[in-house]
Amino acid sequence: MAARTGKEFLDRLSQSRPTVHIQGETLTGGIQEHPAFRNVVRTYAELYDLQHSDEHKDVLTYASPTSGEPVGTSFLTPRTPDDLVKRRKAFKVWADHGNGMLGRTGDYMNSSLMALASAADWFAQANPAFGENIRRYYEKAREEDLLCTHTLIPPQVNRAVAGTQQAGGKLAARIVKEDDNGVVIRGARMLATIAPFADEMLVFPSTVLRGTPEDKPYSYAFAIPNDTPGLRYIAREPLDYDRPRHDHPLASRFEESDCVVVFDDVHVPFERCFALGDAELCNGFYSQTSSVVHMTHQVVTRTTAKTEYILGLVTLLTEAIGIEQFQHVQEDIAEIITTLETLRAFLRAAEADAEVNEYGVLTPAWAPLNAARNLYPKLYQRFPQILRKLGASGLMATPTELDITGPAAADIEAYLQSATLTGAERVKLFRLVWDTCISAFSSRQALYEYYFFGDPVRMAGAYVKSYDREPYKAKVQDFLNQRSLERS
Ligand SMILES: Cc1cc2nc3c(=O)[nH]c(=O)nc-3n(C[C@H](O)[C@H](O)[C@H](O)COP(=O)(O)OP(=O)(O)OC[C@H]3O[C@@H](n4cnc5c(N)ncnc54)[C@H](O)[C@@H]3O)c2cc1C
Repeated sequence: MAARTGKEFLDRLSQSRPTVHIQGETLTGGIQEHPAFRNVVRTYAELYDLQHSDEHKDVLTYASPTSGEPVGTSFLTPRTPDDLVKRRKAFKVWADHGNGMLGRTGDYMNSSLMALASAADWFAQANPAFGENIRRYYEKAREEDLLCTHTLIPPQVNRAVAGTQQAGGKLAARIVKEDDNGVVIRGARMLATIAPFADEMLVFPSTVLRGTPEDKPYSYAFAIPNDTPGLRYIAREPLDYDRPRHDHPLASRFEESDCVVVFDDVHVPFERCFALGDAELCNGFYSQTSSVVHMTHQVVTRTTAKTEYILGLVTLLTEAIGIEQFQHVQEDIAEIITTLETLRAFLRAAEADAEVNEYGVLTPAWAPLNAARNLYPKLYQRFPQILRKLGASGLMATPTELDITGPAAADIEAYLQSATLTGAERVKLFRLVWDTCISAFSSRQALYEYYFFGDPVRMAGAYVKSYDREPYKAKVQDFLNQRSLERS
């Protein structure tokens, strides 16, 4: 097979039978017709169709090294600077399609799989079969254009003790049995976004294992189809209320769903395992393979697209109601512009300073990407705040599409017009602002950005520990040691 079309994505989904608990119902398939998922599934189908559009196919695909067929660019192993640029341009096409609101488009996990497979020798340290498994799995994902999600962290029951100690070790997903052809997993993982309509679930390590013998059953990496027997998803209440696009312009397209993941004695065949029982290896899973770097390259491209969208939106808003000339408004807009240019500079620096890693993969520089992923969770929080401040009561004067064409139409035209827009145009714009900064969908976006790479507090701790500050200490020490010329 090759890069999928939207129809091929939907056809495969219609064959899939994941178990999803949602609002008191248990689904076993039919995801693409369910009101909670059908709109976002359609948006994902559009992404796959872009791979075949005359405008984007050259950027979004490349020739498979095995089949020669066009496959998704996010699977491309970068060897040259042009490869890195092509990867970033492909990320951008998909990110723009969702205004950066789709956090789990396939290119995110594809980037991870590409890097992990390139580092197959790292997996082979524990067992040569694991190296072969990750390589074969990546090829399968690439050739079948699979959509993968992932689940990392143990359930949030009591963070005062390790995941391994929750409920006497009987809560977090763990290996309970090994048999002739695989392992059996029991317990839960906290969350997986897009799980109901993904093809595959990547169950990858939490990087909080201490490497003690107790951690052994919790140390694993494997991939399973999302309708594997015993795998269950508990979806949160959907934020797509199946309302017209006019009224809920973002939620009706981009509501990705987040699910708790339950493993009820799920059997994982050995050929789907990439690591088992080795806590130390699991702790190096992302950093030692450069996987985190390629994932962050995708993420910073996406957040750049999202920031461009916010800048466009705030500009339309301030022009519409004639507040552009006020200085505090300009200060807020300048903050968004600064964030955008900062992200662009990080991306450029990461690509300019890319180096070939020990597995022969041209890898973007980590320092600028690491800075970006530490900054954005906080910077993004300002955007909804700014939109709320500048939109003010206009964000409440937001009747629905039916009102615009109904008995209130004349009043809306007269009283809700703006400096540059008719009443109907202004309501349409303000509904978009509302869905970006006030709706339930927008709150979930803010939470999502905050926790995207994990807890920013602990991430900052790791950042400080890993950053080499010795040269800067020495610089200041040298300065302190300088003798005063006047006195000597
Ligand atoms: C919308 C959304 C979608 C997500 N999608 C996915 C997904 O697809 N796959 C996936 O694997 N995960 C997903 N996550 C989970 C995400 O990885 C976590 O939210 C993140 O790692 C933080 O962990 P936590 O939520 O368990 O917070 P907790 O670890 O429970 O932290 C809660 C609070 O307690 C504090 N705290 C807890 N423990 C400590 C400690 N030891 N030291 C200092 N402070 C501490 C934190 O600072 C924080 O303020 C998603 C999260 C959200 C919000």
